[in-house]
Amino acid sequence: MARAMTVTRFAPSPTGRLHVGNIRTALHNWMLAKKRGGRFMLRIDDTDAARSREDYVEAIRSDLSWLGLTPDGEERQSARLDHYERAFEALRDAGRIYAAYETAQELELKRKIALGRGLPPIYDRAALALTEAEHAAKQGEGIVPHWRFKLDHDQPIAWEDGIRGTQKFDPATLSDPVIRRADGSWLYMLPSAVDDIEIGVTDVLRGEDHVSNTAVQIQMFTALGATPPRFAHEALLVGSEGKLSKRLGSLGCDAFRDDGIEPQALVALLARLGTSLSVEPIGDVAALVETFDLATFGRAPARFDAGELARINTALIHELPFAEVAERLPDGMGEEGWLAIRPNLDKLADAADYWSLVTGPVDAPDLSDDDRTYVAEAAQALEWSADPWHTLTGTLKESTGRKGKALFLPLRLALTGRGSGPEMAALLPLIGEGEARARLIAAARA
Ligand code: GLU
Repeated sequence: MARAMTVTRFAPSPTGRLHVGNIRTALHNWMLAKKRGGRFMLRIDDTDAARSREDYVEAIRSDLSWLGLTPDGEERQSARLDHYERAFEALRDAGRIYAAYETAQELELKRKIALGRGLPPIYDRAALALTEAEHAAKQGEGIVPHWRFKLDHDQPIAWEDGIRGTQKFDPATLSDPVIRRADGSWLYMLPSAVDDIEIGVTDVLRGEDHVSNTAVQIQMFTALGATPPRFAHEALLVGSEGKLSKRLGSLGCDAFRDDGIEPQALVALLARLGTSLSVEPIGDVAALVETFDLATFGRAPARFDAGELARINTALIHELPFAEVAERLPDGMGEEGWLAIRPNLDKLADAADYWSLVTGPVDAPDLSDDDRTYVAEAAQALEWSADPWHTLTGTLKESTGRKGKALFLPLRLALTGRGSGPEMAALLPLIGEGEARARLIAAARA
């Protein structure tokens, strides 16, 4: 049966800022949807009222927008509680949800005993064996139950994972998950399945830390009468040292932006990190979408290297067209200024410093007597043309016999106050004839 249009979702919990790992998941879901001409949804997983914060919700939206990953729609779990309630009732009526009363300490003790006996530390289903009278007695004592989803042990779990291949789980090796706390609040598992069904999610792409959740959720989909979506679980992101470092977990869009990283660079790197495709400074996101393919994703952890990101960033800045950056450039800096300065930039924020070489005032250079005479001669020889730098240096080469550094460096120092910087051939026309002559004269007198 042909499936409906692809719908993917990114489902962050607004209990903190997005970090590079979630950014990668968001990007891949966005790319998968774009590749198939489908929809990319943002789902705010805010069932944990105590830890969810509105400022994080806003930060998630603005981070996605900075990255260019605009969602085609947004849902919030806190606005859908009645849907979870309905699913809960249906599953309870069908005998797939049961009340349990163990405290955290009791569960921990059971876990330890199981481990001590060499058994897997899964829930022993003691609550399933309670009689009605025993339930009534618990509740009579004022013990409010929490709720577990009853896995069907006769229904083996299997799926064809888009990245990991065939996955199989014996449900008897899994704990019946707690889906609802005694206070009525929801844990992640059931609301996520309900939403994926009702929002029409066709493809769930997330980190491999969710593989065992998928096993449970597949039974939930079926119990709720739905066909499970396709699943793919990507290998986790690790730091260049090979571990999921603390730093990586706190590295978010603000930190990248402060470091002068362009969103395109982050997108180019994360799009292909951990895949068999080579990571390249590709600024055209459509080209990245074109080559996106789950079949290229590897099982080994993807290594995030800040140095690689910086190199991609620099390469992309050197290609950025003026129109894309115009509003972030210093006042008065036009396309020619951008093209002159762009090859020298590691980050866009440095444009202002280089632009000050054009607008001045420039520092008076410390020249030798010889060089002062030389730049005085240059002030005389300066002749304006379409390419005044080559005209000037050609004339001076002939008249003074200077060459190489002796020919160029005093002129650069006099004209910009610095020994290095953007190409003089590009800068000089921007400085302008009058100003250039004035700087040469000033340097000759200094
Ligand atoms: N809120 C969950 C998380 O951030 C969503 C997981 C999922 O994609 O289903 O881990």
